[in-house]
Amino acid sequence: MDCPHCKLINPPGTRRCECGYDFDAGVVLDSYLTDNEQIAIAENRAMNQSTRRFYGWRLARLLIIMAVALAYFIKEWVLSE
Ligand SMILES: [Zn+2]
Repeated sequence: MDCPHCKLINPPGTRRCECGYDFDAGVVLDSYLTDNEQIAIAENRAMNQSTRRFYGWRLARLLIIMAVALAYFIKEWVLSE
C-alpha cells in the first residue's frame, strides 16, 4: 500500500508507514522508528546521492575521453585519405 503522505510503498498489512502515517487512523503519528534510526536512514540516503554524483562524474570523464579519442581517429583517417 502506497503511503499518501510520503509515497513510500509499504508491504500489504502495514499499519503504519516509516514516516509515521497511520493507515488505520489516516493521520501522521509518531514514527515507529527511533530518532537514531531516522538519522541513520537520512544519512544513508545522503550517502547514496553522493555515490551517484561520483559515478556520474566518472561516466562524464569517460565520455569526454572517448569523444577526444574518436575525434583524433577521425582526423587521422581524413588526413590519410
Ligand atoms: Zn509514509
